[in-house]
Amino acid sequence: MSTSAPTPIIELDRVNKSYISDALTVDVLHELSLRIWPGEFVAIMGASGSGKSTLMNLIGCLDRPTSGRLLLEGKDISHFDPDGLAGLRRHVFGFIFQQYNLLPTATAAENVEMPAMYAGFDKSTRQNRAHALLTTLGLGERLTHRPSQLSGGQQQRVAIARALINGGRVILADEPTGALDSRGGRDILALLHRLNEEGHTIILITHDPAVAKEAKRVVTIADGCILSDSGVAPALPTATDTPDSPSAHEKRHVIDLMETVRIALHSLRANLFRTALTLLGIIIGVGSVVAMLALGDGAKQDVLTRIQAMGTNLLMVRSGAPNMRGSGGSVATLRFEDAEEIAHLPNVRRAVPEMTGGVTLRSGGNDSQSQATATTEGYPLAREWNVEQGIFFTAADVKSFASVAVLGKTVVDELFGPDVDPLGRMILVKNIPFQVIGVMATKGATPYGSDMDDVVLVPLTTGSLRLFGQRHLRSINVEVEELDEIETTQEEITALLTARHRVVDFQVRNMASILESATETGNTMTLLLGAIAAISLLVGGIGVMNIMLVSVSERTREIGIRMAVGARGEDIMTQFLVEALVVCLVGGVLGVVGGLITALIAKLFGVSAIFSPLPVAMAFGFAVATGLIFGFMPARKASRLDPVVALADK
Ligand code: ADP
Ligand code: MG
Repeated sequence: MSTSAPTPIIELDRVNKSYISDALTVDVLHELSLRIWPGEFVAIMGASGSGKSTLMNLIGCLDRPTSGRLLLEGKDISHFDPDGLAGLRRHVFGFIFQQYNLLPTATAAENVEMPAMYAGFDKSTRQNRAHALLTTLGLGERLTHRPSQLSGGQQQRVAIARALINGGRVILADEPTGALDSRGGRDILALLHRLNEEGHTIILITHDPAVAKEAKRVVTIADGCILSDSGVAPALPTATDTPDSPSAHEKRHVIDLMETVRIALHSLRANLFRTALTLLGIIIGVGSVVAMLALGDGAKQDVLTRIQAMGTNLLMVRSGAPNMRGSGGSVATLRFEDAEEIAHLPNVRRAVPEMTGGVTLRSGGNDSQSQATATTEGYPLAREWNVEQGIFFTAADVKSFASVAVLGKTVVDELFGPDVDPLGRMILVKNIPFQVIGVMATKGATPYGSDMDDVVLVPLTTGSLRLFGQRHLRSINVEVEELDEIETTQEEITALLTARHRVVDFQVRNMASILESATETGNTMTLLLGAIAAISLLVGGIGVMNIMLVSVSERTREIGIRMAVGARGEDIMTQFLVEALVVCLVGGVLGVVGGLITALIAKLFGVSAIFSPLPVAMAFGFAVATGLIFGFMPARKASRLDPVVALADK
């Protein structure tokens, strides 16, 4: 395109560049003006520290001038935002650095593909182009080698292929031969010549006059000013065309999620031990949430089942005013006659009074502290609790103040041990002799944990007169005939007792309400367990954030390289967020599995556990949220790095 008035591909117009750090200002470039034409091969030469790299970073849009204008094909780009500059780096410029700047964990082909990924080319296009380029550069056999498996010259050729994959109209080479031996250096220079012949504009930065000689034009700078310029070569070759219109790809740029996940897995694998430790935090967090909720639900269900086993056709009348919840036993206000009256109400099958108190038992040389319950013959039926051995006392026993006792299993064990048959033996209850006539079946613990088998049952009359010396009842268990009318019966009992006592010094509860309060208690317990587990998930999340922050500072150079080849802030952000998410997702899956296994093992040992999908989904959702929330800050930190600063990181 040798038109009469060509536009310079790059124009610097009185550019100044200063670095400001801690109140210290270093002026590096002073009022520098320079025009580079399409298809030129320019060497920028100068002593070390003269500002060559600074100039290259400005031309390559890695950095912005402090003042002055920078034009690309006549268009002022000095005020482009970071993403705008990243777009130019992606589609116009190709960088070749002295230290190659390849990603050490990626293969040669992957390194070359990287800029094309950020430009939105699909996987197969990227791969084909990378393979073709590497083959042209003589590395067709080295596609899957990592940088450490390549010689310096080979690495630099990979870097050149990377610079070319999106077109690379302007190749910026900063001391490209500086780290190579003379043969490797000659090869690279020959390659640059070839690219220039193909139409690429080459800007070669060097301190070495012998290398500068290779260029068609030499610009010498010293202390940030142009010292000399050999002038533009007479014939300008045509500008090369880019392989695909970049803007077309820009429009349909979506982040390649599969590739991002692959990169994330890659870098997580590279730090396996650290990843495993981070995972552990999430696994323990998610696992304990899942296990705790399953066990909590199981415990709740246990309680409910036990309450339901007591029968739903029961009404419990307890002494004590309703506002004295839980203290029912201590204020005895119910009397024998109350039970008798209730028994005569319609729909009442039986009303079984109970009177309880602590007693000392003795048999032979054995002492035992236990609970005595004085009651009537209806007790086993009302409580759905059978006699296992011997018999229960009868109505006649109650009437005749019989000194007979029926023992719970625990009492039998404590007084007699396993080898002695207790039936017919005498025991002392509060020093009063009773004859054992029966043993109850094992009942287990109450929903609230006390041993129901630690009890001695005696006739109501005997207990009242000889053990407790009073006639007040603790409770009356009322069994109804018709469950449908239980509420009417409840009201009738309330009315009856209110009339008899003149005050409401009792409470009548039905199983439904007891069930309800037990459910509430169970839910609170489960919530509490879940909350404790959630805290460990939170701690796991903080671990993720910590590790991601370390990862960002460790991989600053990688971020710089990615930015140099055109990654947007958004790309970098996504990469680190996805990495945090992958950790949490993997941790979430393993945690759910671990939690379920834990609950299952507990179940094998007889602990109840209930598996429902909701807690699992919740714990999993928490893990994902943890990844997003705690990954966000490190990811944003990474995406806001300055490419020049990041590249300079060791
Ligand atoms: P060259 O590539 O020619 O060796 P540079 O462009 O790297 O030179 O550096 C030019 C001058 O700018 C040097 O004196 C260097 O110390 C200074 N410089 C470069 N980068 C920074 C920076 N980020 N902060 C402060 N000073 C800098
Ligand atoms: Mg330099």
